[in-house]
Amino acid sequence: MCRIHRVLVFALLAAASLTSVNGLEFCQSTDRDCHSHDKIAPPPFDSVRSRWNTTVSNLIQSLDQFHLSSTKLIEAFPIDEVDGNFIRTVKNCIFSKSIPTPLKGPLRLATVSKDVIEGILDVHMAVTQSDEFLHYASGGRLRPGSVPLTHRYGGHQFGYWAGQLGDGRAHSLGQYTNRKGEVWELQLKGSGRTPYSRSGDGRAVIRSSVREFLCSEAMHFLGVPTSRAASLIVSDEPVLRDQFYNGNVKTERGAVVLRLAKSWFRIGSLEILAQSGEVDLLRKLLNFVIDEHFSSIKCDDPDKYLVFYSTVVNETAHLIAQWMSVGFAHGVCNTDNFSLLSITIDYGPFGFMESYNPDFVPNTSDDEGRYSIGAQANVGLFNLEKLLLAVSPVLSKKQLKEAEIALKGYVDIYQMRFHQLFKAKLGLLGEEEGDAYLIAYLLKMMEDTRSDFTMTFRQLSEISAQELQNRNFTQIWALEDLSSHKLFSDWLSMYLLRLSRQQKDCDLDRQQRMKNVNPRYVLRNWMAESAIRRAEVNDFSEVELLHHILSSPFVTQETAEEAGYAASPPLWATRLKVSCSS
Ligand code: AMP
Ligand code: MG
Repeated sequence: MCRIHRVLVFALLAAASLTSVNGLEFCQSTDRDCHSHDKIAPPPFDSVRSRWNTTVSNLIQSLDQFHLSSTKLIEAFPIDEVDGNFIRTVKNCIFSKSIPTPLKGPLRLATVSKDVIEGILDVHMAVTQSDEFLHYASGGRLRPGSVPLTHRYGGHQFGYWAGQLGDGRAHSLGQYTNRKGEVWELQLKGSGRTPYSRSGDGRAVIRSSVREFLCSEAMHFLGVPTSRAASLIVSDEPVLRDQFYNGNVKTERGAVVLRLAKSWFRIGSLEILAQSGEVDLLRKLLNFVIDEHFSSIKCDDPDKYLVFYSTVVNETAHLIAQWMSVGFAHGVCNTDNFSLLSITIDYGPFGFMESYNPDFVPNTSDDEGRYSIGAQANVGLFNLEKLLLAVSPVLSKKQLKEAEIALKGYVDIYQMRFHQLFKAKLGLLGEEEGDAYLIAYLLKMMEDTRSDFTMTFRQLSEISAQELQNRNFTQIWALEDLSSHKLFSDWLSMYLLRLSRQQKDCDLDRQQRMKNVNPRYVLRNWMAESAIRRAEVNDFSEVELLHHILSSPFVTQETAEEAGYAASPPLWATRLKVSCSS
């Protein structure tokens, strides 16, 4: 299988708007909605439509009116016949029933996402202030009819088959069909031991939970497909962690994030079934995922598994290109952390790249840099190879060959999308022969000068062509760094010339377009760290502030400027480390 050479990541190909790979048409639209598997389905019943109209007064006022259902998942698959939260190898099922272990109090609501609570869950924000919510969203109280489930999955971790993994500290509370007709699966993370906990305690600590909450919401507002977070609850329950695996075990505190996704199935969900020869169940899970989430694939299509696979190849390429466009490194791109819906899931030791460096590795536990930012495209390919192995038992020989050809198309799709996204980041319209060179040249200069990824693009968006021409970079710190490169003038001339050829464009329009795709604020490690330190002493003001600011990452905000969120990172930020420990 061909690999994307690191240099190739930046050697970009010109893109047609629709490329046909093996006869399968792949959508290459840059429109984010175009890449959602879960096209908004009509509400299942008219009664749903009439029950909910869009006014706030119609939001759910009490948890008693909030109904989740696990029925679909339970009826679709055989459930683990063994009961209880003891650790075991599980066979012949997709889920095990498992009751969350309540966090020990006192419990505190650190933060909630209004966008999720009201916009997705139809719940009035006032409900989140209740005691009932505090217990519900931390695993202490179940709603009537709720059957908490934990999912059996496996995965390739750091290149090797790791066997059974599964939800070791997450509980699925059920599915919620909202008034828009969307179905969301709610999960608690950090809610105690399950049959899949292996040697873990089933808990999550405050620092990793703050990071997951903030980053998943931030990614959503950056326009990157992702799971969402509804609430973060912290406790006083002691949780022991050796944060840097150096024998320095410390007592931290447990926290639970209530998170949601249209589906939590991963590549590893299929892998475990293929690895253990449970082909009927594999087919069942594939049918379920396709029926529920790939509405364009007909259930009687004889090629449905092939089309499913090709779609995941396409969407994964798009997702990783989007990660690259915002400088996001996931940190642990194991197959168990790669969603079948190609959304970003399982936030751990992720990082937003500051100084531009393709070798940026956010996770200090990743000694070999397997999951460096520049390796993510290749890792996506590796994971898709593993997905193909998992799907192959239900493919005919001919379909398998076609799936292999679809996989070969991954490189082109990724590069096309990367090219589109970076062209937009530079405000380029249309297509010119030298565009790939212009982008690659800039990235190379950024690498040489270690310019800040986010702010270089942002400042190019905020500066007028005239100011750029004059090289007036006082207080424009990232561009000042970039302009120290000996070839900067050459690049600048090329760039300005390219912009000047854009008929029907004006500089203000160019700036606005660029500002809409180049964020001013991302969740830098030092920002998260500062908020975490306060959260650990029950001051959630900075978590709130970050959550608020990162909900409008493309808009300059006074409070963010005061906090230095668009300034050159403080010196102490360089000493920060994030590990797998969470
Ligand atoms: P992650 O690296 O967080 O994606 O987790 C990999 C696997 O380890 C998954 O099966 C998790 O459920 C499991 N895991 C991680 N942390 C814990 C924990 N504290 N207790 C139980 N299982 C865990
Ligand atoms: Mg995981």
